[in-house]
Amino acid sequence: MIPIIKPVMGEPEAEAAAAVIRSGWLTQGPQVAAFEGEFARAVGADHACAVSNCTTALHLALLAAGVGPGDEVITVSHTFIACANVIRQCGALPVFVDIDPLTFTMDPDRVEAAITPRTRTILCVHQIGMPCDMARLMPIARRHGLTVVEDAACAIGSEIHVDGQWERIGRPIGDVACFSLHPRKLLTTGEGGMLVTRHAEWDRLFRLWRQHGMSVSDVARHGMSAVVFEDYPTAGFNYRMTDIQAAVGREQLKRLDAMVAERRRLADAYRDALAEVPGVSPPAEPDWARTNWQSYCVGLPPGSDQVRVMQGMLDRGIATRRGVMCIHLEPAYADLEQRFRLPHSEAARDRCILLPLFPGMSEAVVRQIAGALDEVLDRRPVLSRTA
Ligand SMILES: *Cc1c(COP(=O)(O)O)cnc(C)c1O
Repeated sequence: MIPIIKPVMGEPEAEAAAAVIRSGWLTQGPQVAAFEGEFARAVGADHACAVSNCTTALHLALLAAGVGPGDEVITVSHTFIACANVIRQCGALPVFVDIDPLTFTMDPDRVEAAITPRTRTILCVHQIGMPCDMARLMPIARRHGLTVVEDAACAIGSEIHVDGQWERIGRPIGDVACFSLHPRKLLTTGEGGMLVTRHAEWDRLFRLWRQHGMSVSDVARHGMSAVVFEDYPTAGFNYRMTDIQAAVGREQLKRLDAMVAERRRLADAYRDALAEVPGVSPPAEPDWARTNWQSYCVGLPPGSDQVRVMQGMLDRGIATRRGVMCIHLEPAYADLEQRFRLPHSEAARDRCILLPLFPGMSEAVVRQIAGALDEVLDRRPVLSRTA
């Protein structure tokens, strides 16, 4: 069976986790602090704060942006459901705009019309690793005095061309970017998240909120020679990362460049192999973006039966996934379904499938997958319709 993704994990990670277990300091300690510093350097950020996952990172980012009951947050429906869940968790309303059908990320041209006096922030998504068009989005946000939260859950190692140079997603370009360290992403700590921000004050709030709103961190208290009582200036959460996770993350970071390079090589192999499969459209990469190919999403020929294609691939031992979900079509958000017209988002969900892509996969396997797709696609329905 060829899986959709395989985490890259080895002895260094196992050894690092074991060393933490032997050390006696298990959570939000020296390993977390070291991981934060290394992560910030890897993406070019001023501040990085580790949390329990990307969903909690997004929650804190929205709180820092001041999102509260009655506010609106502009985002996309074509994303993982966590984006809308955290908006709701803040008591706010997700306002969905459609995607650009080429990159499958937020279409900046649709943002301006969605802004109302209740809009508090814009939550854009670097979907499946493909950077959102920040060069077009940021001027709109600035013109309206809005902050921008970047969901970079899948985008570690992706690059974007801004202000005349290439930089990694995560400086950030907006106010804050949120990364996931779940095994479905490139770098993983099992569960984990990272908040990177340009604002020292937001970073201070993230650190306060992630550990119950406590004024003195455990690391600080441990180093003190005098007795100090903490206080709780604000109500917080327990969104901590463990030192076991952070130690694994530090080893994972060392693999980042090689992992991204290999994924790009495999994506090139896919593009070549799929050129031989009529009707299938490989993903587009605009000239201002370099994705990390967290997922490889291809468009099926018009008229294809997505489920039948996926079943055919599964029967040949190849795991696939449907295109990225549409939140407004899920029962949890049924109240919003009629409110938004999102044809490109719906088409991307229903007309695309994700193909396996992970380091260690050979180019021969890429060709095997392309060949299987060619076999499984039944192009007759298209022909009979045009006849
Ligand atoms: C995976 C993902 C998340 C959630 O990340 P967790 O670490 O699982 O909480 C949020 N947004 C997007 C776009 C994702 O792909």
